[in-house]
Amino acid sequence: MTLATPLLLVPRIGPVYQKRLKAMGITTVRDLLLHFPRSYQDLSRITPITQAQEGNEYCFLGTLSELTEKRTFKKRMSIVESIIKDKTGSMRVVWFNQPYLKETLQPGEEVYLAGKVIRDKSGIHLSSPSFEKAQGVPIHTARLVPIYPETRGVSSKWLRSIIYMLLYSMGTLQESLPSSLLRERGLPLFKDALFSIHFPNNKKDSELARKRFSFEELFFISLFVLTQRKKLSEAKAPAIAFSPDIIKRFTSKLSFTLTDAQKKAAWHILKDIAQVRPMNRILQGDVGSGKTVVAAMASLAAVKAGYQVAFMAPTEILAQQHFKTVGESLAPFRMTIGLLTGKTDRYISPKLPNDSIEISRKKLLERVREGTIDVLIGTHALIQDKVKFNNLALVIIDEQHRFGVQQRKKLQPKTKLIAHFLSMTATPIPRTLAMSVYGDLDPTIIDELPKGRKKVETKIVAPEERKKAYAFIAKEVKKGRQVFVICPRIEKVEEGETSELKTVEEEYEKLSKDIFPDLEIEILHGKMGAPQKEQIMRRLKRGKIDILVSTSVIEVGVDIQNATVMMIENADRFGLAQLHQFRGRVGRSRYQSYCLLFTQSNVPKTKQRLKALLESENGFQLAERDLQLRGPGDFAGNKQWGIPDFAMENLANLPLVQEARDAAQKLLEKDLTLKNYPQLKNRVQELQEKLHLE
Ligand code: ADP
Ligand code: MG
Repeated sequence: MTLATPLLLVPRIGPVYQKRLKAMGITTVRDLLLHFPRSYQDLSRITPITQAQEGNEYCFLGTLSELTEKRTFKKRMSIVESIIKDKTGSMRVVWFNQPYLKETLQPGEEVYLAGKVIRDKSGIHLSSPSFEKAQGVPIHTARLVPIYPETRGVSSKWLRSIIYMLLYSMGTLQESLPSSLLRERGLPLFKDALFSIHFPNNKKDSELARKRFSFEELFFISLFVLTQRKKLSEAKAPAIAFSPDIIKRFTSKLSFTLTDAQKKAAWHILKDIAQVRPMNRILQGDVGSGKTVVAAMASLAAVKAGYQVAFMAPTEILAQQHFKTVGESLAPFRMTIGLLTGKTDRYISPKLPNDSIEISRKKLLERVREGTIDVLIGTHALIQDKVKFNNLALVIIDEQHRFGVQQRKKLQPKTKLIAHFLSMTATPIPRTLAMSVYGDLDPTIIDELPKGRKKVETKIVAPEERKKAYAFIAKEVKKGRQVFVICPRIEKVEEGETSELKTVEEEYEKLSKDIFPDLEIEILHGKMGAPQKEQIMRRLKRGKIDILVSTSVIEVGVDIQNATVMMIENADRFGLAQLHQFRGRVGRSRYQSYCLLFTQSNVPKTKQRLKALLESENGFQLAERDLQLRGPGDFAGNKQWGIPDFAMENLANLPLVQEARDAAQKLLEKDLTLKNYPQLKNRVQELQEKLHLE
């Protein structure tokens, strides 16, 4: 048996368990052995029976008297009773609904029993303890007992038995890390670590084992990311000549002057894309810091140098918005901008800079292929096989952090040159993630907001202040301002369901009928059709809608300058970084803006988390805090990156991430292609298939 052996070939795992394990993503011996306990129950101390006291849990070692079974007919319950005896004394033992114990356990046999001592009518007794015969090494009692993540149909007890059996029947297990790396850090070998994580002798052993596995994952992620980076630096991209005149002409036409931070970021990017080394840059700037205009400048440079640009947004709403603003600002420079989304494809031509023309998908793609669409803006629809560019030189991705290797390949023209890549995000990337999963991207930061922006006043609103909040909203609308109301859900899952989660549909009903019957209220959510969404956004932009009740679809990017109130229902349901994004939808003009956080939660920790928003306007700080409080899962947007859970947790552990990164760097300095480490090389290749960090 090896780690790669499929569980199908393992005796003692029948078809039912095969299926249950498969549902947990466990199909090989390796998967099962790397399914780690979430905690340990400490039953390592054997207590003399006379020392046991009511209300506590104990592990006893002793012999059982005759086992008797009673049945209560009313409740159809089976009660098995016995008495455990050790050198010091004895105690009654009671098991409910486990009649088979009468067969399993024999009187006179030495057993470990672990459970709680409680009192009933007939006095104190050990209640439904777990049991294990005292031959050989105990795995369910009398030790640090592994408790596995809860899964229906696969108990910790079952896992313990199988994993123990596997650990003993495995031959030599090949070490996956260079032994010097382990020695330098005092970390256990693979095989020892596997034993210690499942069946540790003590806490320290289990912690070292866990550290080893985390280090290993982070090390391989670093190796992967750094090799990726190296590969990219050896590839060639079209050099986009920098023409200061054009850029100056563009900026002079803007209705505002760029901030210093915007100028610096643009300068960085323009210099980068002038090289033949492909740019791989992430532009981080808080909400409203003006990243779009920087992207427009890079696009301008690329098109003026004779190339095409692909500009991808995460939502249709945002793609529309970019099409309009970026399109209108670029069209006067004699370029044609296309929009490719769900249904309505369009383009803006230099002759009609303020108007778009509908075009069939087929025609649009044809023009993209010919190269007569200069900038193609769109959603994920951009990375279909059908979309072929003539001479793509720059890819811009808004609010996605990271672009997968596979996706990048898809966009590539069939030439030797690969496109420059610019990713933009308002969610700052915590240091640990920048060092690990985003480690192949060069960061540029816009750390300044345009002048004159007012701080958004943020408040946590208690349930009893709801009326006051509505009165406030009415006042803002009267002044001509607009309001967002965010709910975590669109509709009730089932009729009659009672959930404390607010839904867009119910809030809309309530607001439009009872609270603000005179106001123009609309809804927006992901299940609506594209034309409908588009229409709502257009009316919102023109100020025709007073209150928009929406889901998180408007989380990123949406730019409505006249909106001044962001009201968030069930605010505790969202991550800090996400709430900060919502807040960024307002405060985009000279008007004072407000963010109202509603919560019914009375959990102090939740309140404290929300308070962080009142204390900080710094997206970076909030992101770090979020990472510490909620873990990186939240960053991946609850997507799985293809990284095991234990490694995900450690993505918040700065010293460990740093250590793994340094180790990977050092190894690559010695042996860039990993030719002396075929096994490491394999693992890195495996990761390439498995990881999807976008
Ligand atoms: P984000 O960085 O969040 O994507 P946007 O690019 O959407 O921000 O810009 C937010 C708003 O600020 C837009 O309406 C944009 O026109 C405006 N803006 C951008 N730069 C400046 C600036 N230097 N001064 C004033 N307003 C600006
Ligand atoms: Mg944006």
